[in-house]
Amino acid sequence: MKYQVETRGYRRRFERPLATANGPWRVREGLLVRLEDENGRIGFGEVAPLRRTGCETLPAARRFFQELPPRLDDERFRTIPRDLPCCRVALESARALINEPEIPFSFANTALLPGSELAILALERALSEGYKTFKIKIGVRDREEEQKVIAALLGGLPDDAELRLDANGSLGPRTLRSWLEFLRGRSGVDFIEQPMAVGDEEEAAEIGADFQTELALDESVSAQGQLVNVASGRLWTGPLVIKPLLFGDLEELVRMAAPLNNRLIVSSVFETGVGLLTALRTAAALGVEDAVGFGTLAHLDDELRGLRPAPKLTSENLSFSTLAEIWERLGQR
Ligand SMILES: [Mg+2]
Repeated sequence: MKYQVETRGYRRRFERPLATANGPWRVREGLLVRLEDENGRIGFGEVAPLRRTGCETLPAARRFFQELPPRLDDERFRTIPRDLPCCRVALESARALINEPEIPFSFANTALLPGSELAILALERALSEGYKTFKIKIGVRDREEEQKVIAALLGGLPDDAELRLDANGSLGPRTLRSWLEFLRGRSGVDFIEQPMAVGDEEEAAEIGADFQTELALDESVSAQGQLVNVASGRLWTGPLVIKPLLFGDLEELVRMAAPLNNRLIVSSVFETGVGLLTALRTAAALGVEDAVGFGTLAHLDDELRGLRPAPKLTSENLSFSTLAEIWERLGQR
């Protein structure tokens, strides 16, 4: 089969600049890819690289697509360089959409809470909307202030709801211990996500062994190779947060990671509805059971989003026609 390839770039402004380790992030840029096969069947994919995760840069992805021949055969898919995982995801997910348009899914989603006293109000609102899983960043402000907020949140959490605390690698051995001490005996915490920096997994696991609260990895498993290392070792037994849009060979990911399905959390890289569909179809193929992490939908409120933030993300609400609309709208911009 031969495929015609077309790309369109996008720039999306965050509702509010996102605080990151590299300073405020204001604009999300990426590429959408459209494939059309010889029978006129169409598929879409997305290139949404994330800095500091080891994937390619957006300029490198643009160059790759500029240098591609206008028509690709199946053989060409097998030779996409390994150092262009986001390009590979985009092309392969577009082709998968052509070959298998309907993959049903339904996942509970996570609501992102602000890291201040406002979190209590946001929790009440999200509970009334039907959310059961919540996430809040920690290690950003004064620890005692943060712990006061968390204590209040846990006090207001029904038995069937849970809170994830994401440290984004900001804790040291002492502060991790202090958080784990603080959480001792408190119910309602799902896990602390990426407590310590990438490279400090062994130390984090050793500290965590003394406590009940689970520790999850996110930044430490942002590339396929890292996930393989962690999954094959005995060091880490907690949840693993994965972002399918960074993983390159999604078929290989599914083969390798499906046995870990009860430990996997599928999460966002601030993608459009096109990438969101790729991520959720991958989650379905992996047999993921836990709530997915797309509370990020609230951060980019535009016509490329595909879905509004909601406590359930289902294939009925995000279908091929949504993707075609996103593509058209991007052409009119
Ligand atoms: Mg995270």
